[in-house]
Amino acid sequence: MFASDKRGKRAHPAREREQMRMTPDLILHARWIAQVEKETPALLEGYAVAIKDGRIAALLPSAQARAQYGACKSVELAEHLLFPGLINLHTHAAMSLMRGIADDLPLMSWLSERIWPTEQAHVSARFVRDGTRLACAEMLKGGVTCFNDMYFFPEAAAEAAVEVGMRAVLGILALDFPSPYASDALDYLAKGLAARDVWKEHPRIHFCLAPHSPYTVQDASFGKIRTYADQLELPIHLHIHETEEEIRVHRERHGVRPLARLARLGLLGPQLIGVHAVHLDTSEIELLARANCSIAHCPTSNLKLGSGIAPVARLLESGINVGLGTDGAASNNRLDLLAEMRLASLLAKGATHAAQNLPAWTALRMATLYGARALGLEREIGSIEAGKRADLVAINLSALELQPCFDPVSHLVYCAGREHVSHVWVEGACCVFEGQAAYADTISLKNARSLWQNRLSFTL
Ligand SMILES: [Zn+2]
Repeated sequence: MFASDKRGKRAHPAREREQMRMTPDLILHARWIAQVEKETPALLEGYAVAIKDGRIAALLPSAQARAQYGACKSVELAEHLLFPGLINLHTHAAMSLMRGIADDLPLMSWLSERIWPTEQAHVSARFVRDGTRLACAEMLKGGVTCFNDMYFFPEAAAEAAVEVGMRAVLGILALDFPSPYASDALDYLAKGLAARDVWKEHPRIHFCLAPHSPYTVQDASFGKIRTYADQLELPIHLHIHETEEEIRVHRERHGVRPLARLARLGLLGPQLIGVHAVHLDTSEIELLARANCSIAHCPTSNLKLGSGIAPVARLLESGINVGLGTDGAASNNRLDLLAEMRLASLLAKGATHAAQNLPAWTALRMATLYGARALGLEREIGSIEAGKRADLVAINLSALELQPCFDPVSHLVYCAGREHVSHVWVEGACCVFEGQAAYADTISLKNARSLWQNRLSFTL
């Protein structure tokens, strides 16, 4: 049977197929839409987003969408701001199983006395799968649709992200000391590359190279990493200049500060995502800017480990691309990017005594578009534009504590919390609807949480 047109005539099958091809799968009618990609940030009012095959098909006035696609499935977001899915530019997702395990310690004691011994005793593919599932479930509810991860067993993290419905950029880890995952840097790289071979065609799973830091990776390993990054066109995700102590010890061992060594090894370039970058002198900021490096700013982790406050206002002023990360749940202790946006903005103002620094729109861009740019995914995610993948978040601004609302982006950054996130879509698939997560706290996730709590408690 052919479909009938308005005059009762049957439509031609080819035309019918064409109409089917053009018809969106879903229309989102939003009170406000944040256009982070505009030179001057802009809010659209009374617009709709049409989604087809997991991508944004069009951005058009709601009235036009209703006239054109009235019969399509739609969601009304009458009191909501729709914005691009948040990108967590630095985390160790599976460490959510170690949330609160080691508080109030400086970085090196935290790592060497608590975190590394716990990992040596417990890390396995199952640990990573369970921990990453927990992290993904938490992040999705808070509007994070993509995370850039650095951890052992990336293939297990891929399984977890796919199961929960998130987008992930998984690190091909490199360390020069053994762990339950691998024996040396070559072994780490071989295993990470094998995981990439298995998962690289999945639309939501991406990879980067993830040498842990200048103090845990030797020159020869960095050489291999640079070669792989060039050959495979992958970002390099690396902790840099997190604490003064780390820089002091590096100077003793290598004669120079870490960034100078990385520059000598040819690691600085647009592919580099330097995590933290708390302690930088003026020449190092200029070096990062000249090389077009990106920075993942993790303000809560930097405060909690007593590392310091990154000079974000100066980095942005120098034209450096800065995204936002939570770091792992063992040093944060929440994977809440809305909280990081607010803190980043407040710290940048307070640290410089200048209230105009890091305004709300900049914080939102850092958590979306700039994160995508750092990951080399700017053409795919990070803004609400036709052709990009439909990774979208709606926040309901009708709650009493968010009223009145003169500027929805101001409220998103300075006033709202992740509890106000109402809807989340990843690749056009709904993961949170009216505050309810599609990937609920399942029995299997509950069992996994208590299993690991028991095991870790036993060795503490
Ligand atoms: Zn980290």
